[in-house]
Amino acid sequence: MAEKIVKIGTCAFCGQTKTIEAVGDLTQAELDAIATDRCICSGAQSALRKKARKAKIDEFIKKKFITPEMVGFMQNVIRFVEDGTFEDATIKLYGSKTVKIWMDADSFLHIRIKRTEDDELKA
Ligand SMILES: [Zn+2]
Repeated sequence: MAEKIVKIGTCAFCGQTKTIEAVGDLTQAELDAIATDRCICSGAQSALRKKARKAKIDEFIKKKFITPEMVGFMQNVIRFVEDGTFEDATIKLYGSKTVKIWMDADSFLHIRIKRTEDDELKA
């Protein structure tokens, strides 16, 4: 069994150091990343929220778009909408589906997938 070793990591934002019980070998960059995740300073908290938000967006995109190419494409479009390169984006998909991506006044990202046709079967 690997021995637990106490090491030091440094928050990337405020420089506070944290002791980390590490199992196995961790690089200093990994220790610093752990220290940053555990820090309560505003920089670290904001980075954590950003990370959680990105994970939430990625989860949604991966659920809605199956192929890795489509997921990558949507992630790029989202990035351009977030950084203001695109004011918004509307993409017409197969089956009368439309994807609209925009940022609202409070800096929330919206992704709306709309179908203009009902699913209907006549048998
Ligand atoms: Zn910090």
